[in-house]
Amino acid sequence: MSTWRTALMDGLRPEQPLTVSEWADKHRRLSSKASAEPGPWRTSRTPYLREPMDCLSSTSAVQRVVMMFAAQTGKTEAGANWLGYVIDHAPGPMLLVQPTVEMAKRLSKQRLESLITETPVLAEKIAPSRSRDSGNTMFAKDFPGGMMLLTGSNSATGLRSTPCRYIFCDEIDAFPSDVDGEGDPVSLAEKRATTFARRKILLTSTPTVKDFSRIEAEFERSDQRRFYVPCPCCNVMQWLKWPQLKWENNEPSTAAYECEVCHERFAEIHKPAMLRRGEWRATAPSNGKTAGFQLSGLYSPLGWLSWADMVDDFLRAKTDAPMLKSFVNTRLAETWEEDFASKVSADGLLERCEHYEAAMVPEGGLALTVGVDVQDNRLAISVWAWGREEEGWLLDHQEIYGDPSRQELWKQLDEVVLREWPHAVGPAMRPDVVAIDSGGHFTAEVYQYARERGRQGVVAIKGQSQRGKPPIGKGSKVDVNYQGRTLKRGALVYPVGGDTVKTTLFGRLKHNEQGAGFLHFHMGTTGEYFEQLTAEKQVLRYNRGGFPTREWVKKPSARNEALDCLVYAYAGLNLMYQRFDRRTIWDQLEKRLEGTGKKKKPALLGSKQQPPSGAASGFVSNW
Ligand SMILES: [Zn+2]
Repeated sequence: MSTWRTALMDGLRPEQPLTVSEWADKHRRLSSKASAEPGPWRTSRTPYLREPMDCLSSTSAVQRVVMMFAAQTGKTEAGANWLGYVIDHAPGPMLLVQPTVEMAKRLSKQRLESLITETPVLAEKIAPSRSRDSGNTMFAKDFPGGMMLLTGSNSATGLRSTPCRYIFCDEIDAFPSDVDGEGDPVSLAEKRATTFARRKILLTSTPTVKDFSRIEAEFERSDQRRFYVPCPCCNVMQWLKWPQLKWENNEPSTAAYECEVCHERFAEIHKPAMLRRGEWRATAPSNGKTAGFQLSGLYSPLGWLSWADMVDDFLRAKTDAPMLKSFVNTRLAETWEEDFASKVSADGLLERCEHYEAAMVPEGGLALTVGVDVQDNRLAISVWAWGREEEGWLLDHQEIYGDPSRQELWKQLDEVVLREWPHAVGPAMRPDVVAIDSGGHFTAEVYQYARERGRQGVVAIKGQSQRGKPPIGKGSKVDVNYQGRTLKRGALVYPVGGDTVKTTLFGRLKHNEQGAGFLHFHMGTTGEYFEQLTAEKQVLRYNRGGFPTREWVKKPSARNEALDCLVYAYAGLNLMYQRFDRRTIWDQLEKRLEGTGKKKKPALLGSKQQPPSGAASGFVSNW
């Protein structure tokens, strides 16, 4: 039969009712290069892989499979079996996402090449990569009826590729929370499949930090299946948990599992029989579309990772936080709870709200700054009053909905920026600094507004992710070419050390003593505001050398505009330090308030130039 006819027949042939595990048992070969146990694949070796794999079969109604598995349990091979099944049996377009483009490249060169060359039915369908025009490149593999695209979660372009029926996101806890400002990479990838009624999505990972682990969040939204195995003594089905593993005198070889029911201890030799009789049981309600599986290293088959190995790992790791975290994540497939992570809670802050009038500067308020976060369909705006020693009061938080690329929205912002805010004991004040984030999709619009409203204290800022940066740095001119026109006066953009500011602010939110640095919230502040304010926390990350670094991370899918607005408003306060003598700023600001109250010329700038008279605010306009 000619090649085109074979291809045509292949395309028309209905998919036979074959499952992924059946396909793997029939066709998959493990190479001696990539596997410790070369030869034909046997699902019976790792019986717990059968159900997750079969949920990926065309015959299953499940659309999303979530695997939170320990290392050395075979989850990578389960994924490889699915790839083989798709190529050989249920062809269609597939997107395979690795944490980085570099890792996708490595996967393609190493694992994928050996999967294809060692498995005859796959080698027949994919031309060798060395031949020219074979449709087999590093990032794309053509096969009859489909193709496989590889990319990294750090490439928005790669994730925005053509529609794909199959999506495989591997090691999703290593994915960034945002890719190129376009949002969550997993959501971006999943969007590719929305048009396919018979889509399949596989998400796998070992977990990382509690509350920040994508795979844990996905597992918790699933039906949470655990692998139940019978106790060799009493036959009661249970899923294996680390605290039940016991040993004597720090001696790993004595490791034995204590049944939760009959409390008999049994040795690992029983594992093969237990695994054979094991079954997945859902522990949460199911929506019928997502199947979630969690499996610790305790289930690893004999000869892979033993209970004694695990005890040995644990004994070595238990006094060292980075090692213990790695043990918990990769051996137990559980998330790690950071003990020093910020304890600031939304509920705690809500209880702390005070009776002062919203939208009015309280006694003690000497300066006003505004933080504006620019989203694709709205502006979020917080107005903060500041007093001596950086005591702060939230005056107002609001959102203005609209398209930031249109003038109307910015005119509405004027109503906040240009208005006067009444003062409880003094004259009304206008904002000193209005800091607007220029890091989103509307940089040109922010620059333009900052230019037009510069005299009212409006500045463009840009967050810096690096640690150890000052709250706000030196402004730099940006030569904007807006709508093809080169502007004579470029806007100034100030870098904001978000990491530094968040560390300062969270330290203050933790404190419950009024006075210096205390942040006040009025009674009208909503629970949603505090949820957003506490949407990030600091976690320890370990680099390759095992050195911990602290990093602020956002809880998956949480909104954090209230926090960003506070960060920008606080950066705005710090901008004032560049312009006032920091040692006497609060005295100067107090004089300014008194001065304007008596309609006097304010004396605010020691060594610097004189401001125009009558300026209750807007000292920035002096510049
Ligand atoms: Zn028992």
